[in-house]
Amino acid sequence: MAIKQNILIAIECNINKGNLRRAKELLSHYYTQYGMDEAYCSTMAVIHIHGGQYPSAQVILEQGLRINAINLDLLFNLAFLQFLRGDIIYAGYLCEKIQTLSNDENLITEVRDLISKIDSSDPSVKRANHRCNICSSEVNRFLPWGGYISPAVSEYQIIGSDIENFSCPRCRAHDRERHMVLFFDTLDFWQENIIGRRVLHMAPEKHIKKIIDLLGTVEYVRGDLYPTSNDVKRINITNINYENNHFDFIICNHVLEHIVDDQKAIKELYRVLKPGGKAVLQTPYSAKIKVSYEDETIVAEQNRLEKFGQADHVRIYGLDFFERLKAAGFEVAIIQNSSLFTKEDAFHYGFNEKEDLILVQK
Ligand SMILES: [Zn+2]
Repeated sequence: MAIKQNILIAIECNINKGNLRRAKELLSHYYTQYGMDEAYCSTMAVIHIHGGQYPSAQVILEQGLRINAINLDLLFNLAFLQFLRGDIIYAGYLCEKIQTLSNDENLITEVRDLISKIDSSDPSVKRANHRCNICSSEVNRFLPWGGYISPAVSEYQIIGSDIENFSCPRCRAHDRERHMVLFFDTLDFWQENIIGRRVLHMAPEKHIKKIIDLLGTVEYVRGDLYPTSNDVKRINITNINYENNHFDFIICNHVLEHIVDDQKAIKELYRVLKPGGKAVLQTPYSAKIKVSYEDETIVAEQNRLEKFGQADHVRIYGLDFFERLKAAGFEVAIIQNSSLFTKEDAFHYGFNEKEDLILVQK
């Protein structure tokens, strides 16, 4: 361990002296001994940053963050790199994240220095060319999703979140919230399905919840199996404790891919919806497979992450997702994204242009 640390210190000294060639030699020695770990990625990125090789530094840091998404050295180097590349919004976001994660006073001091540099830099160097429709901010960019996608999962080309344009740097609204609000605005769903209605909102998205709270619903039930705030009720979607035909409208986004007995959940949603009522059931799915990929023997979080894309997902839906909705009695009335929005809209507002509105009716 001491030797490992000594090599890293020697490398740092060489970097500081500008002796990048020697630093690289020592690092390749480190690599043969210890492999590609977090410290390797972090140190290699610093060498690249010092050499002005920003794109490769970015790739190496992202590689390291796949090993450990909350490694503070990696996050700090990534923040510094974004600052150098002029992406000050992303740099600021990363600094905030480090401050919430770190107890290390030296690191906090370095972060504060970086924040003051960010604050004194000219924000007009990069023109804002995106807009968040939730907080009405012009933003330089949306922030990417920081998670890991296994090679197996990427094969499916899942239609779901826009992982490159994931969260708003101002209000943190996710792409799918922004997208759904655009759908609702354009289709006038607030007026048609929310105001004066009984609404069930499962696993309620924070920003959409705020909008609905301000509208005059007759009843607005927010439900989750594991509520995290007082205004959310404990509701098990496979056994919804409401009578038949109760709700006018249901929003249940990105829930069914977590539920082992999803057919029961879909039946329950059908049961509590009034005849003529509508539901929005967004879920990630792959148009490349006809039959959903599910395997109840895959339960370990790491295996689910590798196979299904998230530690708490239990399947990758295929095109039979829509058959499952029909089997429960729903009429599927998908609204094509392309019927309402252009490619430019997708770029401007940061959403996945392939994601349609999955609307069903009883
Ligand atoms: Zn926003």
